[in-house]
Amino acid sequence: MISTLSPTVLDGTRIAEAIKTEVAMQVQQLAAQGIRPGLAAVLVGSVPASQIYVRSKVQTCKDLGLYSEMIAPPDTITTEEMLALVVQLNGRDDIDGILIQLPLPAHVDTKRLLEAVLPEKDVDGFHPINMGRLQSNQPALAPCTPAGILEILKRSHLPVAGQHAVILGRSDIVGKPAAMLLLHENATVTICHSKTRDLAHHTRAADILVAAIGRPGFVTPEMVRPGAILIDVGINRITEQKDFDRFFAGNVKRETAFREKGSVIVGDVHPKAFEVAGAYTPVPGGVGKLTIAMLMANTVRAARLRRGLPL
Ligand code: NDP
Repeated sequence: MISTLSPTVLDGTRIAEAIKTEVAMQVQQLAAQGIRPGLAAVLVGSVPASQIYVRSKVQTCKDLGLYSEMIAPPDTITTEEMLALVVQLNGRDDIDGILIQLPLPAHVDTKRLLEAVLPEKDVDGFHPINMGRLQSNQPALAPCTPAGILEILKRSHLPVAGQHAVILGRSDIVGKPAAMLLLHENATVTICHSKTRDLAHHTRAADILVAAIGRPGFVTPEMVRPGAILIDVGINRITEQKDFDRFFAGNVKRETAFREKGSVIVGDVHPKAFEVAGAYTPVPGGVGKLTIAMLMANTVRAARLRRGLPL
């Protein structure tokens, strides 16, 4: 039966604020024990989006009382020089989390670098040891965006156990860890990717559909089971009028933003598909808001884990 109720908007901003408040309280508790969790953010070169992300991460640290440091080597830095920097950060007692903002310039060996970060300080959860721990459901530093997805579901009291979760995308950063976290919460998980046949057949079977493919408005209403939960991870900037019309025709608020900025953000889910859902994360204001909050939570977690304190 098709639901006639309006879908619930899963407000990422509100949930992220709640998490940040909790993190700030934990930071205060640690301060009473003489501990100040610290994050080092390494930003190579001058990719504008990366600069915005890193500045925002450093600012959030300040807001919540964590120590933070931004290290910004030029994009001519070599892999060896980056490795030396990571080794130095690994050895510093005032640094609990090391974040290497991706993407790195093509000449830098990203895989080697991510593996050089001490697993205990790997607040992005990208180290193979942390990926392995995640897979075997041991306390670990889980990647921030997938961890944020789980927080949205839990804090919105949406059932996960026994639900069929379908993940679009199998990246190491989003798709695969999201699948693992959902599996550990007893969802039945299907992972789809660019070689999946009859994608719509799978997406229509989803109680929870996570879209993380980086294709603007890819998930259309016909691909969604009415009443399903839609988690839209995609962040796609559109600049063409024809694309704008395809997604947001008649949306006055977006039209104004598009005219002012020359671009707007759309997720991997077509806005029309949200109307079919039971609940959904908007873009912007959904999953994206959780990523930095979870980074902060991971930094405090890393500070505790490294000192053997209870979580
Ligand atoms: P990747 O490019 O690393 O991975 C994309 C995945 O989508 C791949 O597994 C790919 O399949 C799959 N895919 C691509 N096209 C299709 C298709 N037509 N049909 C089915 N599957 C397809 O992306 P990320 O995982 O890093 O990011 C995904 C999206 O999430 C992006 O929009 C990104 O901007 C956003 N993002 C948002 C974050 C946030 O904070 N909200 C954080 C991180 C990412 P295959 O493996 O076969 O190539």
